[in-house]
Amino acid sequence: MNHCSLQNSTDIKYTLGEYDIESHMLSYNEFIPRIYNYCKSLGFEMNKIMPSRAFCSDENQGYPIILMAKHFGIFPFNHGRVGGVMATVRHAPHASHGEDMFIIQASHVGYIPEDHSFGQYRRIRTEHEDHSLSCGKMASVIEWYQHEYEFAKNTVFLQKLDGENFIVIDNQLIDKRIEEGLLLRMNRLADNSNGDFIPHHSYSTSKCYKASSAISHLFDQLEGKRPIGDDLLPEYFCFKRELESIIEGVNMVEHNLQAYMPWIVCSNSPLLTAAKVNVQVEFDRTFRTIVKEKAYHGRHLVYIAGLNIDISPDVDQIFPTTMFVPWAMYVQTPDGKHEIIEQQGIVEILEQQSTENPDQIDLDEVISMMEHSKAVKVEE
Ligand SMILES: [Zn+2]
Repeated sequence: MNHCSLQNSTDIKYTLGEYDIESHMLSYNEFIPRIYNYCKSLGFEMNKIMPSRAFCSDENQGYPIILMAKHFGIFPFNHGRVGGVMATVRHAPHASHGEDMFIIQASHVGYIPEDHSFGQYRRIRTEHEDHSLSCGKMASVIEWYQHEYEFAKNTVFLQKLDGENFIVIDNQLIDKRIEEGLLLRMNRLADNSNGDFIPHHSYSTSKCYKASSAISHLFDQLEGKRPIGDDLLPEYFCFKRELESIIEGVNMVEHNLQAYMPWIVCSNSPLLTAAKVNVQVEFDRTFRTIVKEKAYHGRHLVYIAGLNIDISPDVDQIFPTTMFVPWAMYVQTPDGKHEIIEQQGIVEILEQQSTENPDQIDLDEVISMMEHSKAVKVEE
């Protein structure tokens, strides 16, 4: 599948702009009791709820899981694959482990409070408490695309010749026969008033075209020639890369992100943008699988998707502070009625719920009870 021909750049820009981070952020300490109380307000029964989570495998996703265990009174089912992808083949097993269903799915991104940057996270258990990329899975997926973009930024040149604007392009960036790579959208960059893109001049490995009027502003201060650099906007290119088959536990993250890659590689915070995209695409994909899943029919079900922001911990902190930014929620009642609630609606619903949860368990007490309980003899 060639995403160059599929994506609509206007739609993508709009979709990305809809997901607001700053004014919709919730602390997990408050979010979990509020969503628990919301489930109960819908008729969920305290001791019949089977919570489930689809998180990445990182240790920094642990504190939200502990809070879920505390507030729902049971350890949550594992519905997740690396990168924050939902294992949709586990819907039926999940449904068979309880009556009322709660599912949370989240992608995650690291955050450094000192410089307000996204994408890195302090690993306090490494020798020198080093920072590393978070989410690492997402970073590994976008790396190839970032490399291609860097190459293009430095091999597309803007040139002024005798008062006229030209763009000099490496042949590889316009060769549609290449198996994979970045391809320029020539209709945005070069002039085709003759009905075709006719090079003004051909060099051994590149061609020079008259620049389109749409990019004439890039030549305002130009004397001579310069690489296009950061002026190579997402609207000006796309990536060609085939994914042979799409498998949930293997390349679903890349599949989810692919059409959005130009915006991800051009973003100031590529890992934040990638995580937001993954949440949006994954919710759209997953809620449809939930609707179709027979094992969920006739049940109370709440499925919420969002972004986990892992605030880098201080060296003396045991658990990091994790913030949750909801994106969308699917709510189903046993009579078959269902609805989707968008970001603003979720925040308003949760604000009406109490942060007090009288049903929560005391984990220390539970562990102490386990220590003092009579050992069961396991016999073959
Ligand atoms: Zn991760």
